[in-house]
Amino acid sequence: MDDCCEREPLFTFGVIADIQHADIDDAFNFTQTRRRFYRNSLRLLKEARETWCQLPARPNFILQLGDIIDGFNKRHGASSVALDRVLEEFSLGSMEVHHVWGNHELYNFSRSELLCSRLNSSVLADGRCDGRRAGEDINAYSFTPFPGFTFVVLDAFDVSLLGVEEDSLRYHRALSLIKQHNSNDDLNCPPGHLPVHPRSTVPSCLAWNFDELLSIIQCHSSVVCFIAGHDHDGGYYWDKSIGVHHLTLEAIIETPPGSNAFGTISVYEDRMVLKGNGRIPDIDLVFP
Ligand code: ZN
Repeated sequence: MDDCCEREPLFTFGVIADIQHADIDDAFNFTQTRRRFYRNSLRLLKEARETWCQLPARPNFILQLGDIIDGFNKRHGASSVALDRVLEEFSLGSMEVHHVWGNHELYNFSRSELLCSRLNSSVLADGRCDGRRAGEDINAYSFTPFPGFTFVVLDAFDVSLLGVEEDSLRYHRALSLIKQHNSNDDLNCPPGHLPVHPRSTVPSCLAWNFDELLSIIQCHSSVVCFIAGHDHDGGYYWDKSIGVHHLTLEAIIETPPGSNAFGTISVYEDRMVLKGNGRIPDIDLVFP
């Protein structure tokens, strides 16, 4: 057994991505290459929630990395019903959940609707750095679950036509949030919906401004791990030159019954240890 597994972690958190639930029959993706299990995704979430609840040390919080319900719900007028169903499953665990917004959130709801919904988890931001200023409708904020360790929740679609009213102004608010953390000594872990490193995903899944985000990350030695979803096949790359781990999580929606795709990350002074379930592998994320 690895040394660190015998030690008590500082804290632990759960990760899950691309649930994309809808009450519709299974179907293939747009390119007809992957099957999507729209109803089963809720059962896999239930299994994840039960697993987290049964752990000897329950996760301090859960990171839901976006695309919680599928865009098909909009077509069926079922957006709110589907969202309620998934959030109910989360709430049964009585755990703090941080919601990252993905593209499917914006297929279903406008930004102003999302801000008034339970997917606006910026209410959980810590007092030191509230990511949202009055008048802005960007879901980017930070929280510090343990002294010396800060999570910066990014809004990957802060500059996008998705979910934006025609008359609204967009800001690079999420980017400025990371910059804001330049001066402090905390270790940072930014979760966002879209991957930002070309070697942690396929080109079509990268954030449009990944190079800008990467250069910000690269000049901030405090960033230790970037966690994303969106690429349903998942991916992982350790940028050894700066010691940043880029973790892209496998999607629930394309996980067949009998398997799963969630993880529990234990954080120690010198590393984070990902214990994967189903399609998600175990990975040791050592700090530089
Ligand atoms: Zn997505």
